[in-house]
Amino acid sequence: MEEFTGYSLLRNPRFNKGTAFTKEEREKYGLIGIIPDKIETIETQILRVDEQLESYDKPINKYTYLMQLLETNETLFFKTITSEPAKFLPLIYTPTVGEACQKLGHISRRPRGLFISIDQKNNIKNILKNWPVNDIRFSVVTDGGRILGLGDLGINGIGIPIGKLLLYTSCGGVPPEHTLPIVLDVGTNNEEFLNDPLYPGLKCKRIRGKEFDDFVAAFVEAMYEVFPKVCIQWEDFPGVDAIRILETYRDKVCTFNDDIQGTAAIATAGFISISRLMKKKFIDQRFLFMGAGAAAFGIADMLVKKFQRDGLSAEEAYSHIWMFDVNGLLVSIRTDLAEHQIPFAHDGEPCTNFAEAVLKIKPTAIVGVSTVGGAFNQQVIENMSAVNERPIIFPYSNPTSHSECTAEQAYTWSKGKAIFASGSPFAPVEFEGKTFTPGQGNNVFIFPALGMAIFATEAKRVTDDMLLTASEAVAEQVTQADFEKGLIYPNVNDILNVSMKVAEKVAEHIFESGLASVERPGNMVDFIKSKMYIPSYE
Ligand code: NAD
Repeated sequence: MEEFTGYSLLRNPRFNKGTAFTKEEREKYGLIGIIPDKIETIETQILRVDEQLESYDKPINKYTYLMQLLETNETLFFKTITSEPAKFLPLIYTPTVGEACQKLGHISRRPRGLFISIDQKNNIKNILKNWPVNDIRFSVVTDGGRILGLGDLGINGIGIPIGKLLLYTSCGGVPPEHTLPIVLDVGTNNEEFLNDPLYPGLKCKRIRGKEFDDFVAAFVEAMYEVFPKVCIQWEDFPGVDAIRILETYRDKVCTFNDDIQGTAAIATAGFISISRLMKKKFIDQRFLFMGAGAAAFGIADMLVKKFQRDGLSAEEAYSHIWMFDVNGLLVSIRTDLAEHQIPFAHDGEPCTNFAEAVLKIKPTAIVGVSTVGGAFNQQVIENMSAVNERPIIFPYSNPTSHSECTAEQAYTWSKGKAIFASGSPFAPVEFEGKTFTPGQGNNVFIFPALGMAIFATEAKRVTDDMLLTASEAVAEQVTQADFEKGLIYPNVNDILNVSMKVAEKVAEHIFESGLASVERPGNMVDFIKSKMYIPSYE
């Protein structure tokens, strides 16, 4: 802070305190008269932020205001977000950030993060060195290929890494100065953007194949040379690219993909908390997936790991998971299966009717990752209710219009017996005088805490076992009282406490598996706390 005085200090978002500068600071840094004499607390400043926000009707305008606040006073921004996460997270991340990305080319704002175009593939190290901080520990990277449910948004997708890293800080305590949002520009197939003079990215169709893979390889190499302690989190790459990139780098560097592994971990956390609260063993669950694509395999692989951690053999674990795709039930005699589908194809008769498959397999839980809105129809839910006292219904496809059923349908058709969680949010449902609060599998309970543990321990790799440990730690924090209200995940307003406990468990696991680069501390709770960013003017 010493190097900034007067106006330059007020213009520096990291050190600016606005009207909260103390009398001594005002004298020392030449601030007297530049700000009003009255000294305010951060709580008073938050009242002003709240009032400003209330004056905007549209979430997108609230988003723009909050991003301006971030660029003016970072401490006040994070203090505001952490004051009521349930209210603010939807404004700085999904769903509002989607609209912000769509409009990014038309909103002139201070740039935040790095834009690395494939045309610069021989210059990546220099671009990374242009970033003003050299100890970057966490980078969220996208190519804008599949942003939320909105498709290809090209480099306007930078809003996602920006937003996600804000959650690493506000929900997990990862210090913001160690984070870096990046978008890789490999063109776009979005015709509207290609014809828009204000689209700021490369005006060409997406570059794919070897040229794309070589660019990603050059990027990864440059990242670890310039920022040797960084963890790269891949975000919103199209499915096949996402899987290939993860498989290529997960055993070589510290990296993970939240769409695949974070989603799997939060879904698994839901099933663990249900089992715990129903006083049932996890190994007694049987899953039937509708959809056998990228999301299904991410979740199913994590469930296999959980079954194995709880004592089943690999073969037994696979036998608890069935899948159903566009051509029907995955059974061994099918000849159209991809290699990764084969372990989930079991002996049995072919079946192309999902409701009938439910009666044959008698799953305790159905998981919808098919992108087919309404696929869990009344017959499916009634059959689930016929074979289970409390059927577990997880329609995970996004956005809401693709959800395999609504919360209301699940509760109504199961006569209030369903245990429900979805990918997209649903409002509480009244059924026969009782209010049910639908669960939403929100990765925010996983990745910020995982990020904090990786940051604190300087972990060398991100393993599925670390994610499974995070799932178990999230599930442990759901209480019987939560469950009675229909909740299978903790309360979002409690996110920082939840994340701290999850981070402790994951950090323990990192030390035990020999993946930490720092010495094991005597007290893990104090260790994590000492590394956490707390927004405060102190
Ligand atoms: P994908 O295209 O890889 O897989 C879709 C699968 O659905 C395929 O196996 C396909 O055969 C199957 N399918 C299509 N039509 C079907 C039908 N009529 N009946 C049965 N199966 C059918 O897609 P993906 O990446 O696996 O994503 C699937 C869904 O999961 C998307 O809607 C996505 O939004 C959602 N998802 C949610 C989250 C989350 O956080 N909730 C995270 C990742 C993905």
